[in-house]
Amino acid sequence: MKYIDGFRQGDAGKFLGKRIRENAAKLAAAHPPIFIMEVCGSHTMAISRFGIRDVLPDNVRLLSGPGCPVCVTDAGYIDAALTLAKRDVIIATFGDMVRVPGSSDSLADARSDGADVRVCYSPAQAVDIAAENPDREVVFMAIGFETTIAPVITLIPSAMARQLENLSLLTAFKLVPPALSALIADPEVKVDAFICPAHVSAIIGSNAYLPYVEQHGVPCVVCGFEPLDILFGIDNVVSQFLKGERLLVNQYNRVVKPDGNRAALALFEKYLIPVDAGWRGIGVIPQSGLGIKDEFEKFDAAMRFSVSTAGGAPDPGCMCGEVLKGKILPADCPMFGDACTPQHPVGPCMVSSEGSCAAHYKYER
Ligand code: SF4
Repeated sequence: MKYIDGFRQGDAGKFLGKRIRENAAKLAAAHPPIFIMEVCGSHTMAISRFGIRDVLPDNVRLLSGPGCPVCVTDAGYIDAALTLAKRDVIIATFGDMVRVPGSSDSLADARSDGADVRVCYSPAQAVDIAAENPDREVVFMAIGFETTIAPVITLIPSAMARQLENLSLLTAFKLVPPALSALIADPEVKVDAFICPAHVSAIIGSNAYLPYVEQHGVPCVVCGFEPLDILFGIDNVVSQFLKGERLLVNQYNRVVKPDGNRAALALFEKYLIPVDAGWRGIGVIPQSGLGIKDEFEKFDAAMRFSVSTAGGAPDPGCMCGEVLKGKILPADCPMFGDACTPQHPVGPCMVSSEGSCAAHYKYER
């Protein structure tokens, strides 16, 4: 409880922790341990940072799913960016991607060899870079879940408005609901309930999770990022199991609406089309990504430069796939904290500021 004590709403945290433990104790005789998976890198970080696992009884287990967009990006995608960088293309990217290993090197390695790799804090910076370098091609590394897709895809109308012919997107957009379906369908993945992501849910709406409740009997609780939000979510799941309920609960309704953000979804509809997508360590999940529609093909870097973002050959010892499916905790990977550290990461889960391995290394060793 020491971490929760330090939070500004410590009394509420103590109360929730106590209620979770009491309800879990009542549940223990009749039910095996409950496995609750969060699918959001910010939840992953908050759970580790605030010591939420320490508050929970043994029969309530938290797992991290594929909620970090950097972590689920295939090594082949990094390889494609490296190929373009070698062709004197300016690579514009969010900072987390720079140190992610591809099949052999990272963009940081390429940059030390002279590649022009520029870190952007906002996708709009890529438009400025393209405008300032009319004689060079600029490729923005367009990764992310539904939350990030909306602002990134506005690069297309921005480039059109400024009549830029040298900006394109290397896409690896991912959708959360198909990943949840794949996890439920995987007999080796133990998940009894989902803590649903906050920002992604603000885009897709809480109703997106109804199928998991109605067809699979898996409770879904949409939570915010504060430790109390997460504790409320866990408390709700335990309470549902105690009462024999299986419900969709939106505890983040101060932000998340049932139908999501229609303006953002309209942008998806206008520029993007569902595609099969590869998830690092997990494999291809049908219709789990979004690609650029044919009519906007000139903005699709993979088409424009004839490069493939598929597959790649990540370090065979890295167990990011098992971590991302919640099959193991990061410390179960033999390389954790030894051969693999934030200073010398072997896999993306140790690189990203939202990665499970990075979170465990920083807060739970
Ligand atoms: S500790 Fe490193 S090598 Fe192991 S799963 Fe995590 S990122 Fe991969």
